[in-house]
Amino acid sequence: MTHKTLLEVAVPTPLTRPFNYLCPADISLPVIGARVVVPFGSRELTAMVTGHVDELDESIDESKLKAIIKVLDDAPLQPPSFHKLLTWASNYYHYSLGEIYSQSWPALLRKGEAAELQPVMQLQLTEQGKLTELDELKRAKKQQQLLAHMQANPIQLPQQLKDNDFTTPAIKACSEKGLIELVEKPLAQPCSWNESHINQDDKLVLNAEQAIAVAAINDKPFYQTSLLLGITGSGKTEVYLQAIERVISEGKQALVMVPEIGLTPQTLGRFQRRFNVPIVFLHSALNDKERLDGFLKAKQGLAAIIIGTRSAIFTPLLKPGMIIVDEEHDSSFKQQDTFRYNARDLAVVRANIENIPLVMGSATPSFETIHNADLGKYQLLTLTKRAANASTASHQLIDIKGLQLQSGLSPQLIELMRHHLTRGNQVMIFLNRRGYAPALLCHECGWLGNCQRCDANYTVHQQYRYIQCHHCGDQHAIPYQCPGCGSTQLATAGVGTEQLEHTINELFPEFNSVRIDRDSTRRKGALDESLNAINNNDYQILIGTQMLAKGHHFPDVTLVAILDVDSALFSGDFRASEKLAQLYLQVSGRAGRASKPGQVALQTHHPEHALLQLLNDKGYMAFSEVAMKERRVAQLPPYWHMALLRIESHKGDLITAFNQTIHDVAMPLLQQIGSKDHPLRQIGPMPSPMERRAGKYRWQVIFEASTRSRLHAFIEALQSELAKHKSSHKVRWSIDVDPIDMV
Ligand code: ADP
Ligand code: ZN
Ligand code: ZN
Repeated sequence: MTHKTLLEVAVPTPLTRPFNYLCPADISLPVIGARVVVPFGSRELTAMVTGHVDELDESIDESKLKAIIKVLDDAPLQPPSFHKLLTWASNYYHYSLGEIYSQSWPALLRKGEAAELQPVMQLQLTEQGKLTELDELKRAKKQQQLLAHMQANPIQLPQQLKDNDFTTPAIKACSEKGLIELVEKPLAQPCSWNESHINQDDKLVLNAEQAIAVAAINDKPFYQTSLLLGITGSGKTEVYLQAIERVISEGKQALVMVPEIGLTPQTLGRFQRRFNVPIVFLHSALNDKERLDGFLKAKQGLAAIIIGTRSAIFTPLLKPGMIIVDEEHDSSFKQQDTFRYNARDLAVVRANIENIPLVMGSATPSFETIHNADLGKYQLLTLTKRAANASTASHQLIDIKGLQLQSGLSPQLIELMRHHLTRGNQVMIFLNRRGYAPALLCHECGWLGNCQRCDANYTVHQQYRYIQCHHCGDQHAIPYQCPGCGSTQLATAGVGTEQLEHTINELFPEFNSVRIDRDSTRRKGALDESLNAINNNDYQILIGTQMLAKGHHFPDVTLVAILDVDSALFSGDFRASEKLAQLYLQVSGRAGRASKPGQVALQTHHPEHALLQLLNDKGYMAFSEVAMKERRVAQLPPYWHMALLRIESHKGDLITAFNQTIHDVAMPLLQQIGSKDHPLRQIGPMPSPMERRAGKYRWQVIFEASTRSRLHAFIEALQSELAKHKSSHKVRWSIDVDPIDMV
């Protein structure tokens, strides 16, 4: 046996090391970058060939190696740059390379499907069909109509014929007579677009700031990250579009990353009107086949622009030209389970490896990104004006201390709503809590409806009469009697969007209201219907959770109100104020987009709060400057670096045992790897803010370092030391690098 037949394979298992497999004589040697099917324990897994091995490590017994079962790809599945990108991610996030490879593929490729586009079949008029007189078919009216249609439109997709009411029997009959034939649609030339595919009529004349931004981005057609800072409506999207023009003219591809709920029909429409090129949308509603199709079109250069959410960062491009990350601060770019990557950060690494420009846009950049711009790593481009002559909104804090509220609405706010509504405008009320009320309690004995499996209250949903835990999904009918004392005096506490809608309908019977939250938009297409109806002015009052805050443009909204911000002001999460400020700006951006001036009102018990004052008077960047100073003093991100070790188990005593192991293992490592100039710190183990969730106990340990490389060295050593201890195999634990959700 020659050594040429030894492979290094990244297998999707939690173990981070690569595995060796043999390639048996009856299978031709797979290239590096091809998928293979390998036996692993009792299972067969789709894995990635990462190398050909000349010499085995001495510790490995060749006779014990297993053989691969099948080779799935003739050529590398992903471009060579991906191996660098994914290896970087594996080292940075301390996560198995095999798992990362697997997660970077569409589900069907994970299941072993071929990486080939399904041929598209089309019907074509034959020579004979061209020459045949319609009269010859006068006894078969349907066939005659079909032939006439095909003579006018010689190439048709089967669906197009169906849309024109041509039936299968007619199509079959014409095919049998040799008048039309079913042929494979030829593939387009890869990356065959150029400046003639730009719709010049659609272009806007840039204002000075926009023009400077486009020039600065296009000045360097290689790696460079630009932060495009501009309020909603300042024309960031127009800057993206014009930056992409250069990419399209050069026959290259652009990848546009958007937040989960930011992919609106309006945005898509703008790209489609501007560029007459194939565009692929990768969003959560796609089925597996459509997702694979998008992946392959991008890989083969059959799509020029790829617009997608988080996982789109793994879309291979034949000729990468630019990456854009819109709303870079959005938390949906961070994956919150298994492989906990941040797509925005991977975009930086990817753009660097592929040596292409990256543009990040936001009205409210994350502190991490502001810090990188401060350090000069990112080029800062600022848009200060609203582009389409819209005026900026005025802001107002409403002090609700001691006031009687109606489902959370103060008398001032109700008055303000009436003022705007009677002038024919729309108002938007924002409350980040869905359901009717966040708690159900007994008026007589104080019983509180608690989820048995989580440290959380049940939320009351009045319309369909159930209570539900929003953390594990557990659901029951609303009890008629108190389970504690039998009383029927059950009452709700607090306000959710459902109740708010109810009260608003009573207060303003002459206006129509609509609620946008996860409950009201569950049915497919429901969100689009509501959004269209809002643009149609069918509704004057818009009530919603943060679903309503993102991406949608409502030109007739002139008042935006945020009901409950106080919890964020005093939260234990160090990012809470940053998130609140981002939300505040985002919501304000909905007001007065068109020529009508907007007004933003914020209800709080703490109008004197320094942060609210700053945000209200001076805006986000002034706020971020002060808030970031606090972070620096407190030695928190972005100045210090953080990793979170999460521990989960159904059994509390197993966690206790593992905590002891962590203590024993981490202490010496912290001292060994940290130093006076490069300190490392451990906080915990401690219970997570929500200690029980879905029946499991949850604990966490925070590790912090002033130097990133020390933190990574420590985590790596910690991981391998912990794995040697039995107690670590009895609980579930994982590492979250740069955590943003600590709950
Ligand atoms: P953002 O992405 O920052 O929210 P948009 O690019 O969507 O901003 O622009 C907001 C509005 O201003 C849109 O209606 C857009 O058509 C318009 N707009 C953008 N740039 C210009 C410009 N240079 N001249 C006129 N209108 C513009
Ligand atoms: Zn009771
Ligand atoms: Zn629960």
